[in-house]
Amino acid sequence: MSESFYDLLGVNRNATAPEIKQAYRKKAAQHHPDVSNDPNAEEKFKNIKRAKDVLTDPSLRKTYDQVGHSQFEQAQKQGGFSNTHFSGDPSDFFTNANFSTSGFGNLFETFFGGSSRSTPRRGKTLATSLEIDLEDAYSGVTKTIRFTRPESCTKCNGTGHPSDAKTTNCSTCNGAGTVTRTSSTLFGQIQQVTTCPTCNGERVSYSKKCNSCSGSGTSINKTEIPFQVPPGVLDGTTFLYEGEGAALKNGTNGDLKVTISIKPHSEFKREGSHIYYSCELPFQNAVFGTKVSVPTIGGSSELTIPPGTQSGDIFTLSGSGMPQQGRKKSFGDQIVKVQIPTPHPSSLTSEQKKVLKSFEKSTETSAKSGIFDKLKEL
Ligand SMILES: [Zn+2]
Ligand SMILES: [Zn+2]
Repeated sequence: MSESFYDLLGVNRNATAPEIKQAYRKKAAQHHPDVSNDPNAEEKFKNIKRAKDVLTDPSLRKTYDQVGHSQFEQAQKQGGFSNTHFSGDPSDFFTNANFSTSGFGNLFETFFGGSSRSTPRRGKTLATSLEIDLEDAYSGVTKTIRFTRPESCTKCNGTGHPSDAKTTNCSTCNGAGTVTRTSSTLFGQIQQVTTCPTCNGERVSYSKKCNSCSGSGTSINKTEIPFQVPPGVLDGTTFLYEGEGAALKNGTNGDLKVTISIKPHSEFKREGSHIYYSCELPFQNAVFGTKVSVPTIGGSSELTIPPGTQSGDIFTLSGSGMPQQGRKKSFGDQIVKVQIPTPHPSSLTSEQKKVLKSFEKSTETSAKSGIFDKLKEL
């Protein structure tokens, strides 16, 4: 068994990065092929340099500590880089601008990611949307979501073959369940181990396929599931339903994402937990003040209009807005903007016209006298 990187550099496992670098400089000077008479100096030098590179990169060091020396080394051999493509001085190899420890880290992850057999394969995550009314978003409601998804084939129980099918070793992977792909990169030849595309890691092929799903193990079905819309839900909120996505042969179900879309309301405009509402008020009510019943998203509320209210004045009905999602009994406000329309003469009775004319006359007089009074003051 080869020495650990810590032993190579002669540092303990708790050594800090500066301590590792210092130890490296000492060892490198000692084992550099230009100064050492050791026939294995070049190899030793490479190992020391790599030990330093790995142990001074926090994420690589973490991985190294977790998996141990031999597994780390094995990963390098099987899925890492091949240093035979770098010729000449070993220091050139290690100071090559294209070579970085993070690059190695990625290769390392690729190797483990690609060959890991402990991660179960998962079906696709599906996405759907649900359109609701603002009233539904206010009170919360149970809706039915209808969508199509791949589900486990009922005929073969998701296996893709009849139970009496005979098995033989998969000819693509020779029963290994994985295939190794080799590609050339700046780091040399990279070998990546992936799941066999023919048997999907099952290692065998079957003499017969399920005639219902043609061997896929799944069939596309229309389905519906109940969905509980929480009170106060915001437009665009996405909910994740674990395991309600696509089924996958020899894998687990994917998830389902449900995005809520709230239809625009004809009367109310929503912003967060507040509701905005405009109401019209006859001008005589605005003059003398009144109490009006205002529709709210939850029913109605009484609003006191004070005398002398102007068009565009804003009133707040505290707690008459939307519930706050996830916070019980906490509601926003309804903001009411009052509009005071000017009546068209054609909409007035002759009696109303007479009264208004008389009002007009009186205001003309008071306006004139007002100006006259001001002039007198000068
Ligand atoms: Zn195979
Ligand atoms: Zn089937």
